[in-house]
Amino acid sequence: MQTDIIIIGAGVIGLSTAYHLALQNSKQRIIILEKEKFHGAGSTAQCTGGIRYQFTNPINIQLTQISYPYFLRFVADMHYPIYFRRRGYLFVTTSQERWHELHEIHNQLDAFKVPSQLFNREEIHTVYPFISTSDLLGGSYCALDAYADPYGVMEGYYRQCRKLGVQVLCNAEVTDINVKNNHVTSVLYKPTNRPISPTTEPNEINATVVINTAGPHLHLLARMAGLELPVAPYRRQVYVCSPMPIIPAQVPLLVDLDTGFYLHVEKNGVLLLGGTDRDIAPGLETVVDRGRLTDFIATAIKRVPALEDAQITRIYTGIRSLTPDGLGILGETKIKSLYCVGGFGGNGFMHAPAIGLITACLVLGKQPPLDPTPFSPNRFTDATLAEKALF
Ligand SMILES: Cc1cc2nc3c(=O)[nH]c(=O)nc-3n(C[C@H](O)[C@H](O)[C@H](O)COP(=O)(O)OP(=O)(O)OC[C@H]3O[C@@H](n4cnc5c(N)ncnc54)[C@H](O)[C@@H]3O)c2cc1C
Repeated sequence: MQTDIIIIGAGVIGLSTAYHLALQNSKQRIIILEKEKFHGAGSTAQCTGGIRYQFTNPINIQLTQISYPYFLRFVADMHYPIYFRRRGYLFVTTSQERWHELHEIHNQLDAFKVPSQLFNREEIHTVYPFISTSDLLGGSYCALDAYADPYGVMEGYYRQCRKLGVQVLCNAEVTDINVKNNHVTSVLYKPTNRPISPTTEPNEINATVVINTAGPHLHLLARMAGLELPVAPYRRQVYVCSPMPIIPAQVPLLVDLDTGFYLHVEKNGVLLLGGTDRDIAPGLETVVDRGRLTDFIATAIKRVPALEDAQITRIYTGIRSLTPDGLGILGETKIKSLYCVGGFGGNGFMHAPAIGLITACLVLGKQPPLDPTPFSPNRFTDATLAEKALF
């Protein structure tokens, strides 16, 4: 079998990439191979849907600037609801160093003409009395920071991809990527929905271009082609709690930058809490670690004392893939026509529109809306942290 472009992984990034490719060049044959039974069952399914402008690195702000209009137009363009709401993010800190970083973010946003505010502890206390502020130096708030439903966005892309002729093969696990004369040539995959005997030959699809968007499996797929990418999967535990009247549905997404703790209120008032598992070892294991509960609750209560009465209804685990410098990976690898796109950590959903667009431009030889060099998969020689506002 022969096609023009194979995309590995039907998460929000693979689907956004396929959508932009199909939109820009309707003649290309595009196949997405997805190992799960359904599209969007990877990290995208566990994502909490935050969208923010507040970053220290201008290139991340640019990615939000490119993506934001897509979210605003999504329902009109993609005919699928995404419950987009501007709710703001509020970052708070007790640390002088992080307070300095929040000033840095504020100045960056000023330069981009994105309105943001720095609050002192009294102002935070007045507006958000449920937050414990006595030890805080202050906080940073951007009213344009927002929320959208990750399932809606992923499904919208999926449906448009299908309309534009993209073929999505689920239950198809890629097992190898073939390379000849330093040029990608084909992909092997096996069905995951029926037993196969050891002697069954895997299916092979020849392709001119292969795009690896395998999310937390990005590095494993890259390895199939002989590439080592320093991107690794990290568990993220989410605590789902019943609504609490003291925490209104309209509050911003609160992030305690010192501990990583975040509080996010869903559209129905349900609370999603998490963010304190920054010390976790890499791995693809998604089992919930209940041993972390006591420490987590202590950290949460310290910032939001009312959470002492929170009713945890469910705990689940998702995986984020992170790079050593905190920036994602996007571009052609040292192997010709093999692209790797991922490692965007906690920003892969909000930046998916821009990531898909930029990848499509690179593949089709068009001018991308920003210079993607900082995301190059071939950049990993300098270990300096390129983004500081991470949680
Ligand atoms: C708890 C949590 C909260 C988050 N919150 C936010 C947030 O608020 N805002 C934000 O922007 N981001 C957030 N993220 C990050 C975001 O979810 C990810 O960056 C984004 O979903 C990555 O999309 P993806 O398409 O790269 O990966 P995925 O959705 O994981 O898609 C990759 C796909 O590749 C498939 N695949 C893997 N290996 C193979 C193979 N061998 N063959 C075929 N298919 C394969 C997988 O099955 C999967 O479907 C959060 C993540 C987690 C875990």
